Amino acid sequence: MNEAYRVLLYYKYTTIENPEEFSMEHLAFCKELGLLGRILVSDEGINGTVSGTYEQTEQYMEALRNDPRFADTIFKIDEAEGHAFKKMHVRYKKELVNLSLEEDINPLELTGKHLKPTEFFEQLQAPDTVVIDARNDYEFDLGHFRGAIKPDIETFRELPKWIQENKKLLEGKKILTYCTGGVRCEKFSGWLMREGFEDVSQLDGGIVTYGKDPEVQGKLWDGQCYVFDQRISVPVNRVEHVVVGRDIFSGEPCERYVNCANPECNRKMLCSPENEEKYMRSCSHECRTHPRNLYVKAHDLTLEQVEIRIKEIAAWEESGAK
Ligand SMILES: [Zn+2]
Repeated sequence: MNEAYRVLLYYKYTTIENPEEFSMEHLAFCKELGLLGRILVSDEGINGTVSGTYEQTEQYMEALRNDPRFADTIFKIDEAEGHAFKKMHVRYKKELVNLSLEEDINPLELTGKHLKPTEFFEQLQAPDTVVIDARNDYEFDLGHFRGAIKPDIETFRELPKWIQENKKLLEGKKILTYCTGGVRCEKFSGWLMREGFEDVSQLDGGIVTYGKDPEVQGKLWDGQCYVFDQRISVPVNRVEHVVVGRDIFSGEPCERYVNCANPECNRKMLCSPENEEKYMRSCSHECRTHPRNLYVKAHDLTLEQVEIRIKEIAAWEESGAK
């Protein structure tokens, strides 16, 4: 395996003046280095994942560390066989992560206690503790901490409302929260504190850091960690691998993601290659019969052929033999 490439995951909450101008300059700089990836820039900081050769990623980290605004940025580094992206994007956004709050949280002023992986591992097993996953439902479905609460949300901005409706789960407890690299929890844990929860901690460096810690070795994590690049997932628990993902059609253990073939749905769903074929890579009858269905297009199916397939699927579903 050629491991000359690396993937960097990082964020830094810091004040950036003229962020739109900065993002254009930063894009030019990344392109000049030959990096690929996705970076968000806002008034409140930077959040990115980039891939490149050892040399390119070294130069990038050095440049950021030489900038006082980003001097103490922590980079999570993964070895890779090649680039993890097809393009280089640097985008300006109003907020690094969006909780859709009337008054936003500034993690530089208010955020939960940071726990190192070993501390988090200890706390996971302590009494009166609740663990709440700060990610989206499809990320949770592929893997999560054992016993973690899954908020029933499709995007991060739905999280505050979900918590307010389910406050009872957290009241009087020691609250632990975690996300992929830590950037979402910085804000979410601050928001929990502003809501009046007193004992709020976050996993420092996120799941990705937890999986690399030589002492805990990802223990008490089940499944894989969803990542937002071409790798789709990375391993976390180095001691045991418990598959928690379930095939959307059959309920069988599964860790393979595909997107629903209806481009207007595009839902991320876990399913086996066999069931992808069987169910026309579509999450529902509506998606299967959608006029823009990409599976139908790719397989050049006639209307008649689609009808036959739909009948077959209905028969399977009826017989319960999904
Ligand atoms: Zn769908």
